[in-house]
Amino acid sequence: MFSARSSYAEILRSVSAGAKRRGLSDEIFPHMRTSEEILRVMSIMTDSVKGYVHSIETLGAVDGPGLRFVVFLQGCPLRCKFCHNPDTWRFDGGEETSVEEMVSKILRYRSYIKSGGVTISGGEPLRQAEFVLALTRALHDEGLHVAIDTSGIYCEGVALEAAMEADLLLLDIKSFDRLKAEKITGFTTDHAWQLLREREAAGKPVWIRHVMVPGLTLIDKTTGGSAFGTEKEWREANGELLEGIRKLKGYACVERVDLLPFHKMGEFKYEELHLPYELGATEEPDEQVVEWAEKALAEIWGASE
Ligand code: SF4
Repeated sequence: MFSARSSYAEILRSVSAGAKRRGLSDEIFPHMRTSEEILRVMSIMTDSVKGYVHSIETLGAVDGPGLRFVVFLQGCPLRCKFCHNPDTWRFDGGEETSVEEMVSKILRYRSYIKSGGVTISGGEPLRQAEFVLALTRALHDEGLHVAIDTSGIYCEGVALEAAMEADLLLLDIKSFDRLKAEKITGFTTDHAWQLLREREAAGKPVWIRHVMVPGLTLIDKTTGGSAFGTEKEWREANGELLEGIRKLKGYACVERVDLLPFHKMGEFKYEELHLPYELGATEEPDEQVVEWAEKALAEIWGASE
């Protein structure tokens, strides 16, 4: 395989050899002027798997270990009330991209991401399971670490295969109450727990992410009224959250739990898309409550280590 540093001639040789191996004529390639053109024609000729890409982030630092190239895929069936990327929801958008084109783009950043890797996110990436599986395998061929960031909503067939292929699964548990999750996202969390069990059975690592939204998944001063003012009272009011963290502790594959405070950075997108934003009156959790939650997490997580 060629790399980001390969010359035009090297790419040409490599792609022509690939075409020949597949029994295709390579006559057309010398007439192509750029590497991109070669890759595009190659992907059409080989009927390569295509994905619909919403956007990319070349050097992400929060979606898995190390510096990462993040691919956001288009389309999501969930409607999380706190979603800050509603522009990824539609199934009919995104830029059509072949696995080869995406790998080629990613390899330009190989020297930056070699100790981190690639994260495939969304939207809900596993909606495009064939593409995610093919991309993950191609990146593995290049020796890159691959994480998939998913709600777990698709956890059968090729989607399961793709989820199991990832070196790391970033799994969102939207609520620790399965029915409340349905109210928040449109779906229960049954599928997410099923995927977690699959990863557990295979001994493959998972990082859990959970968004703390006042009034939905978190009780704080703004939603608990004057019912509490101390840490002890806060813990009593947030039994569901603390129980959920305890439950995760029972999974050996869970390496880490991130409690993410709700924020409103995506609110403007709802306006742009003319979509109702239901959390306009919800405040971001105050620092004290976030600190209490982090402390409780550290206590539970460190309990048997
Ligand atoms: S799963 Fe992610 S992309 Fe889909 S609605 Fe929820 S937060 Fe948004």
